[in-house]
Amino acid sequence: MLRVKEGSANRLHYQGNVLEVECRRSKDVETLLWAWYRQRASIKFSDYFLPLAERFKHYGVAPAGMEIKEMKTRWGSCDNAGVISLNIRLICASRICIEYVIVHELCHLVHRNHTKAFYELLSQEMPGWEKWKMKLERLLL
Ligand SMILES: [Zn+2]
Repeated sequence: MLRVKEGSANRLHYQGNVLEVECRRSKDVETLLWAWYRQRASIKFSDYFLPLAERFKHYGVAPAGMEIKEMKTRWGSCDNAGVISLNIRLICASRICIEYVIVHELCHLVHRNHTKAFYELLSQEMPGWEKWKMKLERLLL
């Protein structure tokens, strides 16, 4: 539940299932909420990301970093420098779906493109990944 009230400061308080946003001006609500999402996402995604990245050391690769971004059409990406970006909207997805996106991007550290070898590695690291991909696609609609 979201409760918004006017106050003397901009702050956010979360207890039980109530998220209380106190703000000086009502137009600050969105900014405050995004900051909160971003903070939650960075804790949660790092938690899932680090052990998975550790596993890929086995292939002699390591990501250069992890970023959280707002993306319209993709759940994740991996740039040429090896920085993996995750869509902040994944905060609404289940752990296994978030892990699927992370594993998919980590596989790109080994194989740049969606080749047969890429999908073989993905299936090896995450058997049954198709199911989680489908679940995520439904979430986008
Ligand atoms: Zn890909």
